[in-house]
Amino acid sequence: MQFEAVIGLEVHAQLLTRSKIFCSCTTTFGSPPNTNTCPVCLGMPGVLPVLNRKSVECGLRLAVALGCEIRRRSIFARKNYFYPDLPKGYQISQFELPLAEHGRVEIEVDGRKKEIGITRIHLEEDAGKLIHSDTGDPFSYVDFNRSGIPLAEIVSEPDLRSPEEAHAYLVLLRSVLRYLGVCDGNMDEGSMRCDANISLRPRGEAAFGTRVELKNLNSFRFVKHGLAFEIRRQGQLLADGGTVHQETRMFDPARGETIIMRSKEDAHDYRYFPEPDLPPLLIEDSWIEKIRAEIPELPGPRKDRFVREYGLPNADAITLTEEKPLADYYEEVARASHHPKAAANWVLGEVLHLLKEKKLRIGELLFTSKDLAGMIGLLDIGTISGKIAKTVFEEMSRTGKPPGEIVREKNLVQITDEKAIVAAVEEAIRTNGKAVDQYLQGKQQALGFLVGQIMKGTRGKANPALANRLLRERLEELRKS
Ligand SMILES: [Zn+2]
Repeated sequence: MQFEAVIGLEVHAQLLTRSKIFCSCTTTFGSPPNTNTCPVCLGMPGVLPVLNRKSVECGLRLAVALGCEIRRRSIFARKNYFYPDLPKGYQISQFELPLAEHGRVEIEVDGRKKEIGITRIHLEEDAGKLIHSDTGDPFSYVDFNRSGIPLAEIVSEPDLRSPEEAHAYLVLLRSVLRYLGVCDGNMDEGSMRCDANISLRPRGEAAFGTRVELKNLNSFRFVKHGLAFEIRRQGQLLADGGTVHQETRMFDPARGETIIMRSKEDAHDYRYFPEPDLPPLLIEDSWIEKIRAEIPELPGPRKDRFVREYGLPNADAITLTEEKPLADYYEEVARASHHPKAAANWVLGEVLHLLKEKKLRIGELLFTSKDLAGMIGLLDIGTISGKIAKTVFEEMSRTGKPPGEIVREKNLVQITDEKAIVAAVEEAIRTNGKAVDQYLQGKQQALGFLVGQIMKGTRGKANPALANRLLRERLEELRKS
C-alpha cells in the first residue's frame, strides 16, 4: 500500500525585544548564568507580570506578514506543568484566544508553488535552560537568563507532504522573520526552534492517521532527516500490520533515528486556565494599520518581481532574495549599473564567494554597491576586459578604492588599438612555432593557447574578441603563404 505523509510544524521564534515579555530584565544573549533575572522571571510569589508592548508589536508584524486574522481581544493563559527550568510551575502562554489565526504562506519546491495554512500565532514566555554536566557529576545546572524571553509560536496546518516541503516552509519562515526584523532566525543558537507533527495515511484517504510529535529538530538538516526517518519507520510499521502510537519522539542526530521520549499528553493535561494576573490584550485597528503600512516587500513576492522585472532565472532570484540585505544590495547594483543580469552574475558569483571566503556580511564589504555598478559600467563600455575586471574586483575588495581609480593607478585600460594587438599577435606567433604548426595542421585547441599567450603578453589588457580575430587573420595569411 502507498502511504502519504501528513506534516505540520510548530515553530518557536524568539522575538527581538530588548527586555523580557513580563519584566524589564535584558534579553542579551551570553551573559553569565542567572544574571539577567528578577523576582518576576524567577517565579517568586507575590510578583505581577506586565506585558511588553514591543513583543506584541513583533507578533503583530509577523501575523500581518503571514496574512493572519488578528484578534482584537486575546487572552493569556496558564499552561501548568512541572519542569526544573520553570520555577512558577506554569508557563504564561495563549490558548483558546490566541493573537492571530488563519494565515497562509506560499512555498516553492522544484519550481512548484504551494500554499501552506497557518493555524495560529500566539505569544508566550520561554522557560529557563538546563545545563547537564559533562564531567559525570550526578546533577544538572539551571540558568534562568532565558526564562521570560518572548516567543511567538507559529503553528502550521498539516498541509506539508514531504520533508522537502517542510524544509522549504522553514527556510521561507526564517527568511520572513528576518525580513521583518522580529527574530534573528538562528536555529543553531536556539532562537528559532522547530517541532513537527507527522502521521501517515493510505494515499487518497481523507482521514488522518495517528500522529507522532518530533522534538529536537534544531537544524534544517535534522528536520529533513528526522522526518524522512519517521516516514520510513511508520510506513514499515503500518505495512507490517502494526499500529502507530501517539507519542513524542526525539531525533538523535548521532544515530540518525528518532527515539521515544514519552507517550503523548493532550492539551487537557496542562489544565489551561486564563491568567488572572494579566488583563485581556486589546488591539486597536489603528495599530494594525500602522504596522501593515510598515511591512517590507517579502521574499516570495520580491523573488517573483526579480524574475519579472530583471529577467533573472528563478533559482538566481530565490538565492538573491532569501536575505533582505543581499536583495537590497543586488537591487542597488542592478539599478545603478542598468545591467541587472550582469549585476546578478557578479553578486551571485564573486560577491557571495568573497563573503563566504572572508566570513563577512554584506554590510562589511569595503566597496559600495555603486563601486560594483561602476565596475560593471567600465566593463560594458570596454574600458576594461572581463579578465581585468576580476583583478579590479580583487583590488576593490582589498582596498575599498573606487574602480576608476584602480584602473588609472594600475594602468589597466583595455587595449583596443589594433596596432598594439597586432604586435602582440606577431610576438606570440614568433615565440610559439609549435602551436602555430599544430593549428595549421587543424588542431583548433592550439588557437586558445595562442590567445592565452597574447593575453599574457599584454598583461590581460588586450580586448579578447579583437585579439582572437587578428590572430585568426594572421594565421590564415600564414596558411596561404
Ligand atoms: Zn526578570
